Amino acid sequence: MSEPLLDVRDLRTEFKTDDGIVKAVDGVSFKVEPGQVLGIVGESGSGKSVTCLTVMGLNDSKFATSTGEVLFRGEDLLKASSSRLRTIRGDEIAMIFQDPMTSLNPVHKIGRQLAEAVVLHNDVSSKQAYARALELLKAVGIPRAERRIDDYPHQFSGGMRQRVMIAMALINNPDLIIADEPTTALDVTTQAQILALLKRIQDDFGSAVIMITHDLGVVAETADDVIVMYAARIVERGPVRSIFNEPRHPYTWGLMGSLPRLDTNLERLYQIPGQPPSLLNPPSGCRFHPRCAFAMPICRQQDPQLMPAGSDTLHEQACHLDEATKAREATKLVAMLTAGAPS
Ligand code: SF4
Repeated sequence: MSEPLLDVRDLRTEFKTDDGIVKAVDGVSFKVEPGQVLGIVGESGSGKSVTCLTVMGLNDSKFATSTGEVLFRGEDLLKASSSRLRTIRGDEIAMIFQDPMTSLNPVHKIGRQLAEAVVLHNDVSSKQAYARALELLKAVGIPRAERRIDDYPHQFSGGMRQRVMIAMALINNPDLIIADEPTTALDVTTQAQILALLKRIQDDFGSAVIMITHDLGVVAETADDVIVMYAARIVERGPVRSIFNEPRHPYTWGLMGSLPRLDTNLERLYQIPGQPPSLLNPPSGCRFHPRCAFAMPICRQQDPQLMPAGSDTLHEQACHLDEATKAREATKLVAMLTAGAPS
């Protein structure tokens, strides 16, 4: 098998705070193959964004410490110098953030900002950079791009600004794009357009994508594989079809049950009770046990490890429940969610 594009091994990231050490990522391992779309899903504070900021080397080193390995084409980014990381960011790995207004400079025209990013990473004239900026605006579907290139960010809608951020990420045809909640701030119609655009970009440019989201619906639309994170750890992972057809972890069941759908006869959305735990002092054993309807005495004492689950050999979950109970509950949930759905 060829070398993965990204191979994250036993990643741990801690932050020093006035109240103590926050273990924001605690022993996370995963791989991304070239051209693959990996969805990382979980509630706020589950560690999904910190995982990706660590991969990009974007945590504040005054407060954050990371151990483990982040191998990008075999090179450990945790050991890379700041200048090497700056070269990799933008050239080979690009990031799309949730709120484009925090990434775009409000006092500069869109074209100038894109052209500056082109010049930063390429030996080209300003005229060539401007031409590349225009080409990218067209590629991400900005209508009348020749005119809009001279607009300021505030003259663009939220969806159009997010398209500009995607154009910015594509400047150097990166091999890996990390999209952190790229559609959260958008209405549902624009969200669908941006997801379709990301899918097309991934097809056209062949980039691998890590899609960070709290929304399993976004993952279902875009991802090949899914990682479900809870309280800084991976609790379930596998191919998207297997996760949706045979979910094996009670937390994943909660996320699936809380998905709004128009094609079911559910009267109320499910809500996972309680709040995610503080990572200053997480619960013993399974970190989900204070919120889990299936918790048993062993769950408070023993930390479940990732084990094979379901019928797909790539599917794993970390839960003490026996396989028969997991299979029964998953079948009930999938049947309930698909009842009334068009076949
Ligand atoms: Fe629930 Fe126990 Fe499984 Fe944790 S290990 S998800 S508490 S049943």
